Amino acid sequence: MGFIDLRSDTVTQPTDEMRQAMYKAQVGDDVYRDDPTVNRLEELVAREMGKEAALFTASGTMANQVAVMTHTRRGDEIILGEKSHIYTYEVAGIAYLAGVQTALVSETDGSMDPKVVQAKVRAKDIHFPETSLICMENTHNRAGGMVVPLDVMKEIHAIGEMHSIPVHLDGARIYNAATYLKVKAEEIARYCDTVNVCLSKGLCAPIGSVLAGSREFIERARKFRKMVGGGMRQVGIVAAAGIVAVEKMSKRLQQDHDNAMLLAKGLNEIEGVSVDLEKVQTNLIMVDFGGTGLNGIQVAKRLKENGILINGSTAPVVRFATHYYITESHVNNAVQTINRVIKE
Ligand SMILES: *Cc1c(COP(=O)(O)O)cnc(C)c1O
Repeated sequence: MGFIDLRSDTVTQPTDEMRQAMYKAQVGDDVYRDDPTVNRLEELVAREMGKEAALFTASGTMANQVAVMTHTRRGDEIILGEKSHIYTYEVAGIAYLAGVQTALVSETDGSMDPKVVQAKVRAKDIHFPETSLICMENTHNRAGGMVVPLDVMKEIHAIGEMHSIPVHLDGARIYNAATYLKVKAEEIARYCDTVNVCLSKGLCAPIGSVLAGSREFIERARKFRKMVGGGMRQVGIVAAAGIVAVEKMSKRLQQDHDNAMLLAKGLNEIEGVSVDLEKVQTNLIMVDFGGTGLNGIQVAKRLKENGILINGSTAPVVRFATHYYITESHVNNAVQTINRVIKE
């Protein structure tokens, strides 16, 4: 029997429908823009996000990095959440590739305070760098999948507009945010100039993200994507799965959210284990094993011996992720198993 894999929603494998679509995909050389399936995916995501154009990339990291490179010039400064994926998990690419420095803003439940963002905008002064980009993240990964409210996004976008500073949204899980808010993705993306959408997380595609924005922006971004080695050839093979991800898998995420809540409630009942249920909004939950005296590595080891995978660190708090391949019975099994093994 396979493991119950709660490490991440990136462990999802392509569905049968995706594999069929990949098998049958019409393809061409995408550097020549000859791949009809890539073109169809890019048009689809542009429409979904309410933007003029879009660009398929190999990963979410590539989409974010290309976005920063396209929006900025070397020596600029960008306003960025201190716990954002772009700052935390992208190998300092923004420094190395884009040559920008960061003005960090701390987040509360994934949201930056608009007043603090405003205060970070640099005045015109010979000593100062130009502030050339504001980045947001929704849902927020390190905040345990919490959703940035639309009024916060609106306010930060307005600050950007007032100073002619574009806003990029790391919308790796924008469809989870849209599901939680019960709005279309474009209602979120309207508060940014460009947005990255990941196809390979809860949406189950094997590879890829899409960067959406204005036609002029995407034309320039296409060149930066080429520069970092992201000009791919018959990549419609992969884009075909992405079309299924957007058209179909984006519409079933409530199920993952319901399972996450079920898991959170079950774990919260266990002595020594706590989950702040108020903060469980989407498919990620933060579980605190502090009261058991075990850290994440110790919990992960015991669970692995019992058929369950999580990513534990030396901290007592562990992120669990639900996804397409986690059912209600997996959740019940996981809760029972965790209850048993932490007492051993
Ligand atoms: C996963 C993730 C990314 C990067 O995507 P990769 O495809 O893993 O490079 C970017 N931002 C957020 C918020 C993510 O969760």
